[in-house]
Amino acid sequence: MRTVYVAEYPAIQHRHDDGRIVTVRLKRREGTFRVVCDGCATEFIYRKPAPSRIAHFKSPLLPSVKGNWDTGDDEH
Ligand SMILES: [Zn+2]
Repeated sequence: MRTVYVAEYPAIQHRHDDGRIVTVRLKRREGTFRVVCDGCATEFIYRKPAPSRIAHFKSPLLPSVKGNWDTGDDEH
């Protein structure tokens, strides 16, 4: 049996040798979502898409400024 990892959930569309588009639905089993299509003897297993590899840096915000500015109550 073939094994195909898919990133879609829950319906998996695939094409059989005769050209038919067949939809199967993943079912939860042993902690993973999988389904066996008898028509083409293929097991589809859901695998989450890989997380983004782009690093997320903290935005370079300035530290908060202490004290009031422009309040119009300057001491004289
Ligand atoms: Zn199939």
